[in-house]
Amino acid sequence: MLRNFTTGPGCVNGLAGVSNAMINTWPVIMISGSSVQADIGKGDFQELDQLESVKPFVKFAAKAKTVEDIPRIVKEAIAAAAGQRPGAAYIDLPSDVLHEVISEEQAEKLLEIIEKYVPIWEQPLSEVKELAAPSGDIERAVSLLRNAQRPLLVFGKGAAYARAEEALHDFVNVTGIPFLPTPMGKGLISDAHPLCASAARSVAIGQCDVALVVGARLNWLLHFGEPPRWSKDVKFILIDICKEEIEFRIPEIGLVGDARIVMQQINLEIKDDPFALGDKHPWLKTIKDKVSKNVERMQESMSKDVVPFNFLTPLRIIKDALFDIGTPSPILVSEGANTMDVGRSVLPQFEPRTRLDAGTWGTMGVGLGYAIAAATVCPEKLIVAVEGDSAFGFSGLEVETIARYGFPIVIFVFNNGGVYGGDRRSPDDIQGPWEADPAPTSFVPDAKYHILMEAFGAKGYSVATPEELQHAVTESFAARKPALINVVVDPYAGSESGRMHHRN
Ligand code: ADP
Repeated sequence: MLRNFTTGPGCVNGLAGVSNAMINTWPVIMISGSSVQADIGKGDFQELDQLESVKPFVKFAAKAKTVEDIPRIVKEAIAAAAGQRPGAAYIDLPSDVLHEVISEEQAEKLLEIIEKYVPIWEQPLSEVKELAAPSGDIERAVSLLRNAQRPLLVFGKGAAYARAEEALHDFVNVTGIPFLPTPMGKGLISDAHPLCASAARSVAIGQCDVALVVGARLNWLLHFGEPPRWSKDVKFILIDICKEEIEFRIPEIGLVGDARIVMQQINLEIKDDPFALGDKHPWLKTIKDKVSKNVERMQESMSKDVVPFNFLTPLRIIKDALFDIGTPSPILVSEGANTMDVGRSVLPQFEPRTRLDAGTWGTMGVGLGYAIAAATVCPEKLIVAVEGDSAFGFSGLEVETIARYGFPIVIFVFNNGGVYGGDRRSPDDIQGPWEADPAPTSFVPDAKYHILMEAFGAKGYSVATPEELQHAVTESFAARKPALINVVVDPYAGSESGRMHHRN
């Protein structure tokens, strides 16, 4: 839920969050006040045609013209935001409506139309039959998987939203098919599962002949499902709640429906005539050999204590500390360029819905908002936000909110002095006065981000060695209070983000 306290600019400000939720297919409702209806068009204080401005970014937008409209609009907004492919909805409440007064009795009567929203995963199958796929398509999908030489399961945040973890587990454990989670699908099946192919991603994607993709779009994050990253002959079976998404991608088989329900259908179909790859299957050997080689290489690099810090050394210390916490796993928020890229392979996920990152748009600056939301929804959990300094900078003052509420959020700021790195020019290269300007992607060197947290009475640490970081991590994870750990990273560590070159 996103609330704006002011009209016009407040509403425009909310568009960043609303559009981000929409592109990630997350249910969000934004409620904003707006100008007095009788004054519209006269140039009222902070006047904007908010309804029209928000419409391109949401599934549903409506203005309450009187207080009686509100319950109906709330009901429709919830249904739109959470129903089918989830997304954003907008409720516009003009100032005059907000000041209308009705009796308690009238209010009770109006509220009668609002029913408790029951998510798909809590409803009996008989109530959500339309979210199952036709049985003929399920049979075809299972037959394709059964006859595949190099099958792969890929799952994403749509499967996480659908609570498909149990069905995915059953599928993997019965068939022995290796799997690849997307960044926010991570944890639906533990990264420690022997069939996890994350450390052999390029081989798994590049060589599979049939890919069952569950609740994940074949967008840039999955290289559009096209060569050269995928084989040109790969056959896709897509499971998605959104019919248009499937029609657009033109897979071999499209299963429109809820990820959990459709995976259960697939498991039932397999149960009648089970098949499994078996430990000695050449495809599994290819994947497992590559996984062990890459894991070994990564562990060797990680085991070294590099000072001044690179990204791997501090991430290893954080990983070990997260591992020691065990279950319930903390919620991990991850954003930044190198911090998120390297963190994705170093920080493992063992439980569903425990990772939030820059998402479909690769949006930076969302991390602290996500951390606050996570702390509100899961008050029993520790929240760990691993932030690049640039990503942190977009919404750094949210530390005030974190300190004010005393949320158990520990923020790490990987401070390498800039976007991708600090100013790396040697003084000899700086010729004229204009060149003396800081490099456009650099920040103030040696910034003391921890003092920002201390300014609000919470705990700040600045760490530059493994011992200092170890101490800060142990103390702050145990305290479960707001803390910011300024991790001083070599300004020369880090490279252009994501190895995406032309997209940056
Ligand atoms: P990722 O970033 O993990 O690759 P995407 O955001 O690209 O995932 O894709 C998520 C997909 O999941 C969307 O296409 C969305 O329509 C779909 N989805 C959302 N809810 C469900 C559900 N209950 N069952 C199946 N698919 C879903």
